[in-house]
Order: sequence, then C-alpha cells, then structure tokens
Amino acid sequence: MLDRRVIRDLERQVDSPHVYTRPADLAAYAYDAWGASGERHVPDAVVFPGTTAEVAGAVEVCAYHGVPVIPRGAGTGYAAGAAPMHGGVVLSLVRMHRVLGVEPEAMRLHAEAGALTRSVHQAASAQGMYYPPDPGSSTTCTIGGNVACNAAGPHTLRYGVTSDFVVGATAVTPAGEVVRLGEGGDRTLDALFALLCGSEGTLAVVTEVLLRLLPAPASRSTLAATFSTMERAAGAVAGIAAAGIVPAALEFLDAGAVQAVRRAGGGEIGGDAGALLLIEIEGDESAVAAEVDAARGAATKAGAADVEVAADAAQAARLWAARKAVSAAVAKVMIGKVNEDVVVPRDRIAELVAKTRDLGTQHQLPVVNFGHLGDGNLHATFLMDPRLAGERERAEAAAGDLFETVLAMGGSLSGEHGVGQAKLPYVERQLGAGGVELMRRLKTTLDPRDTLNPGKKIPAATLLAAVH
Ligand SMILES: Cc1cc2nc3c(=O)[nH]c(=O)nc-3n(C[C@H](O)[C@H](O)[C@H](O)COP(=O)(O)OP(=O)(O)OC[C@H]3O[C@@H](n4cnc5c(N)ncnc54)[C@H](O)[C@@H]3O)c2cc1C
Repeated sequence: MLDRRVIRDLERQVDSPHVYTRPADLAAYAYDAWGASGERHVPDAVVFPGTTAEVAGAVEVCAYHGVPVIPRGAGTGYAAGAAPMHGGVVLSLVRMHRVLGVEPEAMRLHAEAGALTRSVHQAASAQGMYYPPDPGSSTTCTIGGNVACNAAGPHTLRYGVTSDFVVGATAVTPAGEVVRLGEGGDRTLDALFALLCGSEGTLAVVTEVLLRLLPAPASRSTLAATFSTMERAAGAVAGIAAAGIVPAALEFLDAGAVQAVRRAGGGEIGGDAGALLLIEIEGDESAVAAEVDAARGAATKAGAADVEVAADAAQAARLWAARKAVSAAVAKVMIGKVNEDVVVPRDRIAELVAKTRDLGTQHQLPVVNFGHLGDGNLHATFLMDPRLAGERERAEAAAGDLFETVLAMGGSLSGEHGVGQAKLPYVERQLGAGGVELMRRLKTTLDPRDTLNPGKKIPAATLLAAVH
C-alpha cells in the first residue's frame, strides 16, 4: 500500500484520471503473458503518463519516495518482465502511442514508445519503406517493449534484431532525468545508448525511438513445405543455406503446433505433417523467382511431402497469420503452458527438438515446438494444467532441464523474450559469476537506489549484496 503522499505527488505529475489506485483497476497489471496462466503480483498503483516530461516527473517522485517503478508496454512479454513482483508503481506507456513521423529520404521513423509495432510497420509501408523486425506479437506489442527486450522474430535471419534498427531514443533515467541518446542526442551518452536495447526496463524508461528503415523489397514470395519428420525439415534448411539463399524468414512448426493452429481455425496449413517450414523470400523480382526455385529444390531433395508456393499476397498473408496465431492456438490446447525461447546453433535444432520430446516424456507433459528455425530459436512449450497438484512444478522442472540441455549444447537461455523474472535462476549458469557481477555493477552505477524494475534480469540476491 502506497503512502497517500506518494499518490498526491504522482497526481501532481500525471493528471489524476491517469493514476489508478483502486484494486479493481490494478488487477489487470498484475501479470504479463508469462504469468497469464498463473502468478499474479498486484501493483500499488498504475500511472499512464502522456508525455516524456510526465514520465520523468513520475519516475522522479518514485525515486524520491523509494518506490519501485515497473515500465510496461503492452504486457505481451514472456518473461514476467513487466510484472510487479515487489509491488510499486507500474508505469504504462500506452497513452504515448503515436508514430510521430516518417522521413523516407532520411530512411527514418520517429515514434513514441507506446506505439504498436504494427503501427510502425504500417506507417513505414505507407511511404514505400520497410521496418523488418517483426515479432509474432506485432499486432499487440509496443515498440518500446521491443527495444527493452531487443525483440527478434521471423525476419532476424536476414535483417537482424531490434537493436540493428534503433538509431536514437529519448529515455528517462532512474533519477527522472530526460536524456536523448544516439542520433541527434548527446554523444557522450553513447555508452548508455548501447545498453538500452535489451535492458528490460532496468536502466531507463524509453519514451521515444528513432528507427532506421529500408526501402520496401520489390517482390516477396512465401513457400510452405511439409515433412514427415523434423530431421527432414532440418535437411531442407541445410540445403537452403548450401544454395547460398538467405530467406527473409524461415519458420517451423512441429506436428503439435500445426494441429493446434488447425483446431483454432488456422485453415489449411500443414495437414498431418510432422514438421512444417514457412519460407519467405524477398528482393528484386528475378532474384526472388530464382531463389524460390532453389528453395523448392532444396526442400524436395530433403524429402518434403509437399511444397506449395503461395499464389498471391493474400494467400501468403493467410499463411503468416496462421504462423502468428500459433502461440494463442497452443494456449487453447491446454489451460496452462510454460514456453521458452531457447537458442542453439541452427544445425542442432532437430537434435534439440528430439531432446524436448524426451523431456516431455520424462516429466509426463505434452510438448509442442515451433520457432525461428533460421536463427536456431526454438519456442519449446510444455503444456500443463496448473489446477492439478504438482503439474506446474513438473513443467518448471522440465524448463530447468531444457535450459541445462541448451547450455550444454553451446546455446543460450533466450533468443528474444529476455530474462525478466522467469529466467533469473538460470542466468548465472549462462554468464558465470563474473558476468552477473558485471551486470550488477552496471545496474548499481546507473540505478543506485534500484528504482527501475527491481529484481528483474539480474539475480536479486547478488544485487542486494552489492547495494548494502
Ligand atoms: C503471441 C506472442 C508472440 C510473441 N512473439 C515474439 C517474437 O516473435 N519475438 C519476440 O522478440 N518476442 C515475442 N513475444 C514476446 C513479446 O511480445 C516481446 O518481448 C515484446 O517486445 C514485448 O513488448 P510489450 O510492449 O508487450 O512489453 P511488456 O511486456 O509490457 O514489457 C516487456 C519488458 O520491457 C520493459 N518495457 C516495456 N516498455 C518499456 C519502455 N518503454 N521502456 C523501458 N522498458 C520497457 C518492461 O519493464 C518489461 O521488462 C511474443 C509474445 C506473444 C504473447
């Protein structure tokens, strides 16, 4: 419960209709997509600033009173990053949702942090430009959340991740100061700018972003290839690489994911395939035609049961909509799930899929796999019913074993969803004590009072030991 003086001071910075304190209003901010089927942590207040100055004012008040601030975009994060584990004030950016301008000649787009990623795509496309980062949640997540998590997605293989496109930002420091970083900003703060992408709301609140754009590709084509086994699909991926093709996207769904999408109304995709590959090729027209042929050849040679090239943009859009719906479709199969976004070298992904199935058997849980095959990023999902005694614990144990497996394979805990709170117990195993110590020092230097998103990204016990 917040002291009345904190509320009063917040209402001086952000108009009172935009400060929530009633329990009924707070409940929706107690979790993000990770906790949707489980844990809830109700904040003490939620504020909705409308300008960078209001964000700065709210953060300054919280820093003064020693109250945690949890920045929040759309709450689609899969690592409990926006969940207020220790109470405090959730600072929602959703009122700051405008795309402020597109400059085709400078190949840049300027947006407020609460703008939907889809709005960024649409604004760029309306000017013949292209913003490639394309998380599966693009219709609902915010560009500020993408920066904070350094979001990736299907287009990472060819174009890179969010940080490859952020050239500038306006941000608010843990003390409530406004800083302009990167292009058009104070270059002495370049070190902070470099840390911004992927800092998960622990170092600064992003309020505006300046994004680099590309010219829209002249031509684009989508192939859907089905295989009886994951190993054959992996063979096709190797063949595509050997042919020198770098697709814009190379996504896969296993049999469970295909069936979940079909049951949820995802149309004709996949049939009874053991694995489905969706391949997007883009560039100038003649290159696309040649690469489509080569990709089709590689899939056929690897033993594809069927390879279909989308007849037109509408059919391609339907295939990609089905891919984007897979998370929600899997969530309908069972009431709860623990889903991870582990990464291994991409030539070992079939081996990892087999290992997740072994883990499912071992922990007596169904497992569904899909992901960004092109960059070795697997969304391994253990399905469970949290109402049944011990089921959540078994799913979490399976995820723990998955992390051990991935680290032993030379992989990484997260390709895009971040650490948040969900992966904290495993961070030290990946980074080592020295890596955690380095992160702790950065955090305590930039946020000595631990105001911004405390207890996220960096293991708390180590952090607390450093602060005292
Ligand atoms: C169906 C589905 C599909 C998804 N597919 C992908 C995918 O393909 N690729 C991918 O990378 N992710 C994916 N995600 C995960 C998620 O959408 C991304 O991590 C996204 O970037 C989160 O954005 P958000 O606005 O919802 O942020 P939130 O969930 O609100 O916050 C996420 C983290 O960012 C911090 N944060 C948010 N806004 C700011 C800000 N303005 N300043 C500072 N910190 C901030 C929060 O404190 C928190 O730590 C998916 C999620 C779902 C539900």
